[in-house]
Amino acid sequence: MIYWEKELEVLSRKELEKIQVERLRKTLSQAAHSPYYGELFRKLHITPEKIDRVEQIRELPFTTKQDLRDHYPYGFLTLPKRDIIRLHSSSGTTGNPTVIFHNRHDISSWANLMARSLFCAGVRDTDVFQNIVGYGLFTGGLGFQYGIERLGALSIPAGAGNSQRQIKLMRDYGTTVIHAIPSYLGRLYEVFQAEGLDPQRDTELRLLVIGAEPHTEEQRRRIEEMFGVKAFNSFGLSEMNGPGVAFECEYQSGLHIWEDAYMVEIVDPQTLHPVADGEYGELVMTTLDREGMPLVRYRTRDITRILPGDCPCGRTHRRIDRITGRSDDMFIIKGCNVYPMQIEGVLLKIPEVGADYLITLDTLNGSDEMIVEVEVKRDWFNGDVARLDKLTRQITNQIRDEVLTKPIVRLVEPGSIPKSEGKAVRVRDLRAALKAGNYSA
Ligand code: AMP
Ligand code: ZN
Repeated sequence: MIYWEKELEVLSRKELEKIQVERLRKTLSQAAHSPYYGELFRKLHITPEKIDRVEQIRELPFTTKQDLRDHYPYGFLTLPKRDIIRLHSSSGTTGNPTVIFHNRHDISSWANLMARSLFCAGVRDTDVFQNIVGYGLFTGGLGFQYGIERLGALSIPAGAGNSQRQIKLMRDYGTTVIHAIPSYLGRLYEVFQAEGLDPQRDTELRLLVIGAEPHTEEQRRRIEEMFGVKAFNSFGLSEMNGPGVAFECEYQSGLHIWEDAYMVEIVDPQTLHPVADGEYGELVMTTLDREGMPLVRYRTRDITRILPGDCPCGRTHRRIDRITGRSDDMFIIKGCNVYPMQIEGVLLKIPEVGADYLITLDTLNGSDEMIVEVEVKRDWFNGDVARLDKLTRQITNQIRDEVLTKPIVRLVEPGSIPKSEGKAVRVRDLRAALKAGNYSA
């Protein structure tokens, strides 16, 4: 057996689209039971029975994060609360959070997608799986938990943080797979080193699952070198359940996005028109197998593209490229549009650069500046001043060549950039105009 659900993973395009149309009709009928879509569909005369081709998705309205916030908390709920068994909410920090409600069917369908995803990356029921992310409203904890259990591997619900304890758990129980956010794994590795241990020699680790936050190919490669195993990319967002939306297979060439459960579109974020396969745009998704709270054409704000061509693994669900960033991650400094991942891409190609970095936008003497603090590997930080100066100049020039504006680069000691327990904070914006409240990004 090389697929978790062969009958669904290798469907022909035609068969897959047939399922999508049926499920889309069902989803729209179900969505119409919510106060929000009920009113909207009446106003726009949307009738699910008239859908018989996947292209008709383009006639439907988009749903935005703001719509979810405006109708917080229950405006998208399609069922009585008695039928709902769990809620999760996003990690957002401004305004109302976005909250998603699940009934029994939804939780079970999600667990299945997670099991399928893990299997696709090579996890088996013989594995010992340590889940090193926060359990709670964040979907990475319980989302993986239910998937690991559905797959039948031995789960260790370790939660986030406390690296020494994580290492002890790994060694005591012979952990073979860990799931963690990429920004945490550099720190975990440093603790291994500080304890005189080497994950390649002193653990039974055989693969890693990384995701939940944007990261570059350079960061993935570094993680793979540290731990000596392959690291598979896992993508999801709470609005689409959480993890289990798209996952890499053994070929690590893009993430299969499960099209029996989600309708996938890539649109130009300005015009909202579809872009051709291979071109970057905003990922828009519709749930096809959710009852408690279906979402129609949800604008994820994540920027990616469909990778054309077939995957050698035989799965017919299309692949998306790694997320290059979110449309709202982008910032403008001195008239240049910059994505944090462009800077990460430059930094992590430089061998002297350590595990972490932080971009601060600030007004210095009346002028907006981009300050990039970069942790440098320990053996380098103790080096002589001339050597550090040279490295500072090199990093400054390379970032300038990439983003077309000159940063102020500061090299700092390893471990000195503040860490959060959850997803990494890559950008702080302290600019005067922003503080005065008249800056709009
Ligand atoms: P949340 O719903 O709070 O868990 O956040 C979901 C968001 O995290 C997504 O919309 C993406 O912006 C980001 N994200 C999740 N997984 C990945 C991944 N593998 N690569 C890049 N970004 C990711
Ligand atoms: Zn594949």
